[in-house]
Amino acid sequence: ESAHSRSVDLYQRGHAVFPGGVTRATIDRDPHPIYAARGEGAFLVDVDDARLLDLNNNFTTLLHGHGYEPVMEAVSALLSTGTCFSNPTRHEIALAELLTSRIPSVERIRFVNTGTEAVMFAIKAARAFTGRSAIARFAGAYHGAYDWAEAGQNGFEADDAGRRKARLAYQGAPNAVANDVLVLDFNDADAVEDALTANADRLAAVLIDPMPSRAGLIAPTRDFIDRLTAVAGRHGILIIADEVLNLRQSFAGASARYGLKPDLLVAGKVIGGGFPIGAVGGSATVMAVFGGDRRSPLVSQGGTFSANPVSMVAGRVAMEAATPAMFDRLEQQGNRLRAQLAEIARNHRAPFSVTGAASLFRLHPKAEPPRSWAAAAQTPGEAATMRSLSRFLRAEGILLPHDAAACLSSPMTDADLDQVSAAFDKFLASHRFASQE
Ligand code: PMP
Repeated sequence: ESAHSRSVDLYQRGHAVFPGGVTRATIDRDPHPIYAARGEGAFLVDVDDARLLDLNNNFTTLLHGHGYEPVMEAVSALLSTGTCFSNPTRHEIALAELLTSRIPSVERIRFVNTGTEAVMFAIKAARAFTGRSAIARFAGAYHGAYDWAEAGQNGFEADDAGRRKARLAYQGAPNAVANDVLVLDFNDADAVEDALTANADRLAAVLIDPMPSRAGLIAPTRDFIDRLTAVAGRHGILIIADEVLNLRQSFAGASARYGLKPDLLVAGKVIGGGFPIGAVGGSATVMAVFGGDRRSPLVSQGGTFSANPVSMVAGRVAMEAATPAMFDRLEQQGNRLRAQLAEIARNHRAPFSVTGAASLFRLHPKAEPPRSWAAAAQTPGEAATMRSLSRFLRAEGILLPHDAAACLSSPMTDADLDQVSAAFDKFLASHRFASQE
C-alpha cells in the first residue's frame, strides 16, 4: 500500500475523533479502511481513484448497486417537499402495501430505522403477546445489538452445572441477560425439540435467521424447519424470522423460500433502497400488540425518524424494481458464480469451498463446505488466508468482504462476475496451501 494513500491520511484523521479511527465496528481495517468517494452501479470508487467491483454493497443492502437512477430521481423530487414530519405520510402506506402483498407472513408492519431496532421490537412484541421473557436463538448468528439478540452471537459457555450459558457480547453486559437467552445449534432438530420443550413455559420466541451469514451462510434443512415449526407451535413459542439480510433471497423473502412460517418477520437493508430502515411485521393478531387502541398488552414503538419519507420512497422504488424476473436473474448469476468458484478451487486442489444461495455467497478457507457454525469457525491461519485473498482481489479491482456474506447487485454483468472467477483463479495459482504439499 502506498504511504501517500488518501485513505491512510483519512484514517489518521479519524483516529483523532473516533475510538479505533472509525465509527462502525464492522469497517474492514486490513490494514486500513478503504474510504469511499462515490458509487457507480456495481462499482465503488475509493478516494485514491481505485474502481472496485463492490461485492459488499453496504453489507448486502444495495440490491441495485450504487446510485440507482430511479431511486435517486424519486428521492430528489421528494426532498423539496420536506424530509421528515411528526405526521404520517402516504409514502409509508405505499411501502407497507408493497411489503405486505409480497411477504406471506406479513399482514401488518411497523417501520423503524435499523435492523437492530426492528429485532428489538420483534422480541418485545413476542414477550408482550406471550407474557414470557426468554428467547431462543442460534449460536453464531448475528441479530444486531439489542442485548438479548446479541448474547449468544459468539456462542455459549458452560455454567457451573455444565449447562449451556449464552456468551455475553461485551464486558459488563448484565448477567441476567444470559438467563433469558437459550443458545441452540442451527439444523440440529433433535436438540432444538428437546430444548424448546424443556423451556417452553419461559420462552416467548425463537429467533431465527433462515441462513445466518456470520454462522457460515448455511442453508436450513427442510426437516429442521418443519420440526422447529411444529415444536414452537405446540408450546405457543412464537417464531421470529430475522430477514434483515436474507429478504434479498427471493421476491417473497427467505422464510417463504425455505418453508418457514414465522409469526413475526424482521426486515431491513434492501427495503430502504439505500437509506436507513428496519421493519417488523407479522400476523395481524400478534402485531396488534403495537396498536394504540389496545390497553394490554401493548408495546410502544415510536421513533423520531421512523417511517421518514426519504427511506419510504427510496425503499418503495427499489423494491418495485426488484421484480420476480430480477430475482431469477440474480439467482442464476449467483448459481453460476458459486459453481465456478467451487470448480476453480477443485481444479487447484485448494482448500476452498462456497456456501450461499440466490445473490449471496461466502467463500470458506475449507476443503469441504461447512455444515455448522462450529465447522465454519476459522483457525487464525485460515482467517489470514481469507484476508490475503481479500487483499489480492482488491488489487485486481474487486471488493470482497473476507469475514461476511458477499453479494451481487442487479447492475452486475456476467462479465463482471467472470472477473471475480478469473481473479480467484489467479490467487490460487499464486498460492500454496499446506494441504497441497
Ligand atoms: N440482523 C441481521 C441478520 C443482520 O444481518 C443485521 C445487520 N447486518 C442486523 C440484524 C442489524 O441491522 P442494522 O445494522 O440495520 O442494525
